[in-house]
Amino acid sequence: MAHRPIYLDHNATTPVDERVLAAMMPFFTEHFGNPSSLHAYGWEAEAAVKQARATLAQAIGATPEEIIFTSGATEADNLAIKGVAEAYFAHGKHIITVQTEHSAVLDPCQYLETLGFEVTYLPVDDQGLIRLDELEAAFRPETILVSVMAANNEIGVLQPLAEIGQCCRDREVLFHTDAAQAMGKILLDVEAMQIDLLSFTAHKLYGPKGIGALYVRRRAPRVQLAAQLHGGGQERGLRSGTLYPPQIVGFAKAVELGLALMAAETKRLAELRQRLWQQLSQLDQVYLNGHPSQRLPNNLNVSFADVDGQALLLGLRSVAALSSGSACSSARTAPSHVLKAMGRSDDLAYASLRFGLGRTTTPAEIDRVAAAVVETVQSLRSLKV
Ligand SMILES: *Cc1c(COP(=O)(O)O)cnc(C)c1O
Repeated sequence: MAHRPIYLDHNATTPVDERVLAAMMPFFTEHFGNPSSLHAYGWEAEAAVKQARATLAQAIGATPEEIIFTSGATEADNLAIKGVAEAYFAHGKHIITVQTEHSAVLDPCQYLETLGFEVTYLPVDDQGLIRLDELEAAFRPETILVSVMAANNEIGVLQPLAEIGQCCRDREVLFHTDAAQAMGKILLDVEAMQIDLLSFTAHKLYGPKGIGALYVRRRAPRVQLAAQLHGGGQERGLRSGTLYPPQIVGFAKAVELGLALMAAETKRLAELRQRLWQQLSQLDQVYLNGHPSQRLPNNLNVSFADVDGQALLLGLRSVAALSSGSACSSARTAPSHVLKAMGRSDDLAYASLRFGLGRTTTPAEIDRVAAAVVETVQSLRSLKV
């Protein structure tokens, strides 16, 4: 294979772990049955799905019946937000979310606004955290849902889920969290954190793409949800479509591994991230984006003053596969909405890099990338004067 740059974009996606792939393989060719079929082929697929569902439920302190398989976190977010809106609009049409959410949350909210819902987009402080007093002040009698992400995909910041859960439960308002980035990196417990709906996905955690799940609380309170896909009635009627056993088995294996490795990986990745930051912060005018410690262990997001963001990414392209803070705006249409919400200027928001470290990242890779970033920033700055 041709030489490829060092992969430091693990907040975008991750490779499938070999152990995950091995667990999936028999379900493509040998155990290929439809879990809904009432014969031996169906039963063996159904048994594997059942076991995977139990593993996923246990990982977040839920029961198996509370796990609804989807195609990923985008679909889970859509099902949670639109599904609650459609089921509860008679109680009220107000939703609270945050300016720094993923588009899979923001866009369904904006869509609901076109249908007459009102949405409060909470601001964040300069480290990317919401303020609980601002959340408390945003509640209205007609508020039906609060959606706040567990970990941000650009800056890795961890929102205070347990405190938010308590605020929502006190007011009998449902609490949804997008945990696509957090799953397997921090402990998630839907009881302790009083979470009613939780979205997650396999491909951010060394599992396959195209599979995710929504946790939907069944008791105290029992969450009502309107299905967004209608058909064969799978997943208790909440998400029709033939289940995909290879992906489901791989998803569960990925989560199982993620939890088993979590303690050691958290420590290792945090040390690598510190090693990276130490080298980058030798430059003048570099700024860490997001809270310094209340963040994912594998994420570092940095802005560089006096540098063109596009030129920086281009200059590093052969060394490292990175994302700009404005991941989705490579055409420079808009600076990152996350960095803007934290009060960064347009220039600093454009000139940002997101380093997503992963299971295979080594100290030598960190040193090579850090040296290349320092050199590129210095040469772009020297060209500028
Ligand atoms: C990746 C991601 C998503 C989208 O997940 P898919 O499974 O790719 O649909 C949603 N929210 C966050 C925070 C993410 O990081």
